[in-house]
Amino acid sequence: MARLHNFSAGPAALPEWVLWRAQEELLDWHGAGASIMELSHRSAEFVGVSERAEARLRRLLGIGDDYAVLFTQGGASLQFSAVPLNLTSVGQPADYLVTGQWSQKAFREGGRLADARLVASSESVNFRTVPALGEWQCSPDAAYLHYCPNETIGGLAFNAVPEVAVPLVADMSSTLLSQPIDVARFGVVYAGAQKNIGPAGLTLVIARRELLGRSREATPTLLDWQQLDQQRSMANTPPTFAIYLAGLVFEWLEDLGGLTAVEAINKRKAAALYECIDQSQFYSNPIDPRYRSMMNVPFLLADPDLEATFLAESVEAGLLNLSGHRSVGGLRASIYNAVTEAAVTALCDFMRDFERRYG
Ligand SMILES: *Cc1c(COP(=O)(O)O)cnc(C)c1O
Repeated sequence: MARLHNFSAGPAALPEWVLWRAQEELLDWHGAGASIMELSHRSAEFVGVSERAEARLRRLLGIGDDYAVLFTQGGASLQFSAVPLNLTSVGQPADYLVTGQWSQKAFREGGRLADARLVASSESVNFRTVPALGEWQCSPDAAYLHYCPNETIGGLAFNAVPEVAVPLVADMSSTLLSQPIDVARFGVVYAGAQKNIGPAGLTLVIARRELLGRSREATPTLLDWQQLDQQRSMANTPPTFAIYLAGLVFEWLEDLGGLTAVEAINKRKAAALYECIDQSQFYSNPIDPRYRSMMNVPFLLADPDLEATFLAESVEAGLLNLSGHRSVGGLRASIYNAVTEAAVTALCDFMRDFERRYG
């Protein structure tokens, strides 16, 4: 058996400690005589797992009781609809910042249910930067402003939380838990788990309780945050195994020293990889240096014809999933929490060696 270095954008690498632990207790979870997957979601055992996972997440992010934490399903993409259903009345405007493919999808999907207004877009420059604050056209009567702090495909990240007068809604799918955040700055934060939190199938929603209870009348119960909060994320069968695994990831993060410690590691990883790119004439990163992502690092070869060779040789060197998103091509290394510093060192060594041989 060999576990290789995995730079997948998602579903992404999980911490090895989490996988070992899950393997160890897979067949007989803590003497229950069955796997955690095989127990009722209403059993004392699973309710305990879920409550401990939530408590750990609250500690990691410093989430107060004035925020609901929901374990739901449907991916980040279903929250593109849940956001307007929960926060707007019919005809009410909602503001969207568009800085890449994910925020653009959220904007388009939001427009099916609300009067979605474009605050600003960087599409004309291929999403290489964040539109300057002076260009933002905010609506004073908007129910919220939606944005994506880390664009997974483009590798673009905001370097500060926007200051706006309306509740801020953030799709944090590829950045949540990579660094500390001040939850109080946000009305709602949501994230699909499969980037930095756990396996696919679980979606996290963190919502200021004050914003709950305004959903449209026809909102499906399973998309209604207040209903989910009142039913403790058990309005139907939750993704029990994914919640269990996310709980182990939270435990791993706490053992590492919490998000301040994790951020320091992530900064070192990103600095090493960007330095490797910047020091060469062979590799380049297209993003405005002020807005480079710490999690998703896209890069191009000076000679794009070498891409197929790069990918084939990288797999031989034990480096997996380095191709860019199918919509944009190029190369991309996602270096989420579970990707070790040793993995990034191995990638940089491979890149330098490849440049020596082909550059
Ligand atoms: C992956 C991703 C999504 C889509 O997530 P699904 O769980 O597949 O719906 C949305 N937004 C961002 C920022 C992502 O990285």
